[in-house]
Amino acid sequence: MVNSNFDNCVSFHIDKGAFLGRIVRLDEIVNVILNKHNYPKQVSAVLAECTTLAVLLSSTIKYNGLFTLQIQSKGQISMVVVDVTSDGRIRACANFDEERIKHAQELRKTEGQIEAAPHFLGEGVLAFTVDQGPDTELYQGIVDLQGKNLTECALRYFKQSEQIDTDLQLYTQAPEDEKGSWKTAGILLQKLPEKGGKIEEETDINELWNEAKIFMQSLKEEELFDENLSSREILHRLYHSNHLVVSDTKEYKFGCRCSRDKLLNTLRSFDPKEIEAMAEKNKISATCNFCSEQYVFDKGELVKH
Ligand SMILES: [Zn+2]
Repeated sequence: MVNSNFDNCVSFHIDKGAFLGRIVRLDEIVNVILNKHNYPKQVSAVLAECTTLAVLLSSTIKYNGLFTLQIQSKGQISMVVVDVTSDGRIRACANFDEERIKHAQELRKTEGQIEAAPHFLGEGVLAFTVDQGPDTELYQGIVDLQGKNLTECALRYFKQSEQIDTDLQLYTQAPEDEKGSWKTAGILLQKLPEKGGKIEEETDINELWNEAKIFMQSLKEEELFDENLSSREILHRLYHSNHLVVSDTKEYKFGCRCSRDKLLNTLRSFDPKEIEAMAEKNKISATCNFCSEQYVFDKGELVKH
């Protein structure tokens, strides 16, 4: 059942606009994404966490096109890609080494538990790109995968590249049994340098910022994953005494941008020898990494006319 308290991102500001925030809670959409794949639980957990981070980060940027979060690493999970379009369509996939993941799992005592992403990612980079189509400049941000979890990596990015005071928290809840489902949540706070000046001089902006962060850290997983609580209610509990203004709610859905035509164009650019090697009984089949849709072509279709 679709729960309207989830699969959206709510924008807010507090303390007379000095700090902006986003709260995202995902349910159905993470399960749709993960069900498209059949990844080991640890890979699913990392992908779910990256999806939440991608929604949070993309929601702080004004863009018309495609936001992509990408991880490249030498770890057991070598690649993660999450796409978020400006109209709220998300797709995500990962590449990983199954044997290495199994081996790492055997070495750890915390079997069954979800562990922070860097255990599986190792040395690498976390990158964000915003593509707004031809004739526009591609925006890119990049940071080393360092820190004890994905949150720390993202915070390092804000500190180094954007130089915006930021705090954020990510939460992932794995299914308890076969029938259970995934849930994720995230909350982000940013200090807006130009708006900070609006606060009366006698109020110490740093004191307010620290208070806002402490309130955010007091959030409990049970509240975030409570199906009967809306994000507005959660924000009210946290920030009702901080001039809370809830400004916008954006909905998200799963959406893959693959199509038979796109794939056909790609395959037509292949060398005829490669096509020959891929063909089985004159048919070539290709599967979309994001949505696992399988496309089958006749060899004749792939020859340039
Ligand atoms: Zn697809």
